[in-house]
Amino acid sequence: MFNDILNIILKVAEGAFTEITVFVGIALILFGYFNFKNDGNFIKTIQKNKKFQPLIGAFLGLIPGCGGAILIAPLYIKKTVTLGTVVAALIATMGDSSFLLMTKSPKTFILVSIFTFIIGVVSGYIVDYGQFEKRFNLNNHFFNRKKKKNIFKNILCRKQYNFEHIGHKKGDEIDLILHHDIKGHQSVGTIGFKITHKGYVIYFAILIIGLMIGIANLFNFDFGDKNISKIISTIGIIGTFGSIFLMLAGHKYFSEHTHEEEEIRLTSLKETFIHSIIDTAFIGTWVFIAFLLYEMFIYFIGMTDLATGNDIFMQLTESSEYYAIMIGALVGMIPGCGPQIIFVSLYLKGILPIEALIAHSISQDGDALLPLIAMDVKSSLVITIITTIVALIVGYILIII
Ligand SMILES: [Zn+2]
Ligand SMILES: [Zn+2]
Repeated sequence: MFNDILNIILKVAEGAFTEITVFVGIALILFGYFNFKNDGNFIKTIQKNKKFQPLIGAFLGLIPGCGGAILIAPLYIKKTVTLGTVVAALIATMGDSSFLLMTKSPKTFILVSIFTFIIGVVSGYIVDYGQFEKRFNLNNHFFNRKKKKNIFKNILCRKQYNFEHIGHKKGDEIDLILHHDIKGHQSVGTIGFKITHKGYVIYFAILIIGLMIGIANLFNFDFGDKNISKIISTIGIIGTFGSIFLMLAGHKYFSEHTHEEEEIRLTSLKETFIHSIIDTAFIGTWVFIAFLLYEMFIYFIGMTDLATGNDIFMQLTESSEYYAIMIGALVGMIPGCGPQIIFVSLYLKGILPIEALIAHSISQDGDALLPLIAMDVKSSLVITIITTIVALIVGYILIII
C-alpha cells in the first residue's frame, strides 16, 4: 500500500506540472503583461464614469486573475465607486482559477465568463438602484474610526519599492491598513525574498522545459526511449515540488495576491514577471493538492483499486447536482484563491456539472475580498452574502431549465 500511495503522489505531481501548471504559467505571463499595460487606465476610467461603474467593474473582474477586482476595494472605501461596482467585479471574477479553466477548457471558460459578466452587471445595477449601501448602512464609519490610529505606525513601514498607490494616497488611513496592518509584499532582504525574487529564474527554466514536454504530450509525441521517459517524469515531479517550495518561500498559503503587490506590479514590469512566476507556483501547488486528494479518495473508496473507486465515485456524483450547486456557492464564500482552485480542478476531472461551476464562479471572489475584509468587515460580509445568494439563484434556475 505504501508503494501504491508513493506512486500516486509521483504520478499526480508529474501530471499536474506537465499537463496544467506549465500552460497556466504561460497564460499568467501573458496576462501579467496585459494587466501591466492596462490596469491603471481601467482604474482611471472607472473613477470618471459614475454611470457605467458596475459595467466597468464587471469588466475588471472578468480580467483573468485577481488584480482587477483587488484594485477596486480601496476605491469603494473612498466612495469613488459604488457598492454595486464591487458586487459586479466580485461576481465576474474567477480569481486565479480562471487561468486553470482557460488553459484546460477554453470553451467552458468563455461560456462561464459570459454568464458571470452579464450576471455581475445586472446584480451591480440592482444593488445600486436598490440603494443597498444606504439600506444596510454600509461604508460610513471607516474614516472616523481609523483616524484614531497611531500615525507613528507609518515609521514601521515595510515598503521597499517606490511605487504608485492606486485608489488611495500615501499616509492615508487606507495606507495604514493595506501597507502596515495586513500582509503586503515580502520584505526585501529576507531569505524568502531572495528565494522568490532570485530563485524564480530556476523555476522559470524548469517551467519552459516542462512546457516543451507538455506540448509534445498534447501532440502524442512518442519519445520512444525508456530512459527519456524517465527523465521526463522526473522533470514533472521536480516541477511540482519546485512549485511547492517557491510558494512556501513566498509565504503564500491560501491566497497569493495583496493590494500592495498589485500596486508594485503595476509600477515595475520586472516585478510583474516575477510575480507571474510565483503565482504559477501557487496555482501549480493547489492543482497538485486537488488532484492528489481526488486520487487518494478514489483509491480508498475503491479499497485500493482505482477502477472500482472511480465507478463508486461516479455513481455518487451523478445524482447529486443539487448538492453540487450548493457546495459550489458555499465554497465560493471562502476568501482566497487556493480552495477555489480545488473546486475548479474537480470540475476539470469531470465530476461536477457545469451549473455548479457557474454558481461557484459567481460566488467566488478570488483574493479580492481580502483587502476589503481588512478595511470594512460589514461591507465584505454583505457583499459575499449577495454574491452567494445570486449564485444559488442562478445555479438552480439553470438546473430547472
Ligand atoms: Zn497603496
Ligand atoms: Zn515582488
